[in-house]
Amino acid sequence: MKLYLLDLGRCDVDKGVVLTPGSDRGWRIQIPIVAYLIEADTGERVLIDTGMHRKHIADPDATFRGYPFATALTTIMRPEDDIVRRLAELDLTPADIDILVCTHFHFDHAGNNADFTAARVIAQREAFEWAQSHPGPFPEAEWNPPGIDFQLIDGDLELLPGVTLLATPGHVPGHMSVVVRLPKNGTVVLAIDAIYTRENVETDNWRGQALPEAGRESARRLMELAADENGLVITGHDPDDWADLEYAPYFYD
Ligand SMILES: [Zn+2]
Repeated sequence: MKLYLLDLGRCDVDKGVVLTPGSDRGWRIQIPIVAYLIEADTGERVLIDTGMHRKHIADPDATFRGYPFATALTTIMRPEDDIVRRLAELDLTPADIDILVCTHFHFDHAGNNADFTAARVIAQREAFEWAQSHPGPFPEAEWNPPGIDFQLIDGDLELLPGVTLLATPGHVPGHMSVVVRLPKNGTVVLAIDAIYTRENVETDNWRGQALPEAGRESARRLMELAADENGLVITGHDPDDWADLEYAPYFYD
């Protein structure tokens, strides 16, 4: 089994608004936007999230223009940060993806779902219902495009041998994290936005999450699981963390 980390651009954010409410307001940092590709021993390919819609390459404020949040976040996306380009670098096309896992439906995670309507698409029912009832600046045309057929699940799911989906509510209801148990590298916990950055754990700051108390519990669950299995936790958007990781074409196995 192989795990690839896909580089899908950056966001320039106000740290104290987006990541650590209560401290560092006005401090701008650039955070990584990513997706993950798993090649299972069975030959199945699992894509986890699809990144920001490619319209942001030409128009960085496409999603949030006109919303107050626009002052807190600007996208930085190069042509090569398009999910289809990143797959092409691995000699793959969207048609090669068998399963798409949607961890949640924020614009930086579900922007190109329309490219993957032929895949089996899995999401948590609560995340689906939350996104539908909170359209705001998260256009449903991107995360729920025509032709996509969601398999909605409730709770954890052993997706494939060595790949487990964990319900980690808090960031939004029905947020999902992924545990990958690799033969050489061991357990890798893809926290996604259950843990934005290390600092959130170190300072116990979950105010950036829609449901802070649930978010604290979910983060604790992931940290404990990783500790029990001597595993690696990969945070969703920590620039320091990601500086030490290797993007595709490198893979973890
Ligand atoms: Zn995110």
